[in-house]
Amino acid sequence: MGDETARTTPPRHSADPATARSTGPDAAGPDPAAPPAAGSAVPEPYLTELAAGVHAFIQPDGGWCLNNAGFVTDGDDTLVVDTAATERRARLLRRRIDGSGAPAPRTLVNTHHHGDHTYGNAVFAPEATVVGHASCRRELLAAGHQLHAVWPQVAYGDIRLTAPEVTYTDELTVHTGGIEVRLIHPGVAHTTGDTLVWLPRQRIVFAGDLVFHGGTPFVLMGSLTGSLRALELLRSLDAVTVVPGHGPVTGPEVYDGIERYLRFVGRLAQEGRAAGRTPLEMAREADLGPFAELAESERLVANLHRAYAELAGAAPGSPLDPIAAFGDMTALNGGVPMACHA
Ligand SMILES: [Zn+2]
Repeated sequence: MGDETARTTPPRHSADPATARSTGPDAAGPDPAAPPAAGSAVPEPYLTELAAGVHAFIQPDGGWCLNNAGFVTDGDDTLVVDTAATERRARLLRRRIDGSGAPAPRTLVNTHHHGDHTYGNAVFAPEATVVGHASCRRELLAAGHQLHAVWPQVAYGDIRLTAPEVTYTDELTVHTGGIEVRLIHPGVAHTTGDTLVWLPRQRIVFAGDLVFHGGTPFVLMGSLTGSLRALELLRSLDAVTVVPGHGPVTGPEVYDGIERYLRFVGRLAQEGRAAGRTPLEMAREADLGPFAELAESERLVANLHRAYAELAGAAPGSPLDPIAAFGDMTALNGGVPMACHA
């Protein structure tokens, strides 16, 4: 059932007009230098201006490998949040920033180490200083060409891994000209090195992969209980606009559905562990109910792997066997490996 949900969910590519003013895919004009997205079934990324100088770069359809990025500028200085999985997409982001009239970025913040968010770092560095949580740097260096390992057939372009060179552990404030940008580590959640990028004046949060909007949450490399705690932190920020790691821009109402899903995973893990059943058995038989409409539903089994480990006393973010988890996701996906959408 997992693959059906993933394939039939319509592309989500319109920002909520209540919280975002879309400038459309062609806001920066056509990109003659950009090769066409040959064979790509997804619409091109688009920019949305959320407040003066604050933009989200949204990549439909938000599935595997199609993350969001963004940038903040006061006209004199520019900070980028995350990049993209391929060189082509990262260069497109760079051209969109240039096309908006913003100066070249001097700071790049990574919300976590995953390749969709960091593979394009070298398109901005070394002119831009890469900033991230200390564990984001560690994990990025340890993971190497992580997307190549999962999806070797993708045309990534020239990917030179570039880890954060400035790291922090709890909180760090960056002043992008006149705009205050607070980097907050929520503890282990989606990964061990997550960063929330919070603009207190604009009340906008770039939530990284703590928030999938329209997609299934994914805590395999982080923590289920930590993700629930991170939602409380997100709520306490009292943002009006939430830029998810994947999917269209939304508001804080998105947190409730994520919390319900995570608690559902927790209950399923408790039942399964008590009954001596494997994560895959539990996932195959689970009644997804309202969560069936989320894309990438195969992530359920990976999330169960993490939940089982936590019930067995494993520390949040402790390494789990990615081959077993990805193998089980493929099995749940009808035996078809998940596709990288980039
Ligand atoms: Zn991620």
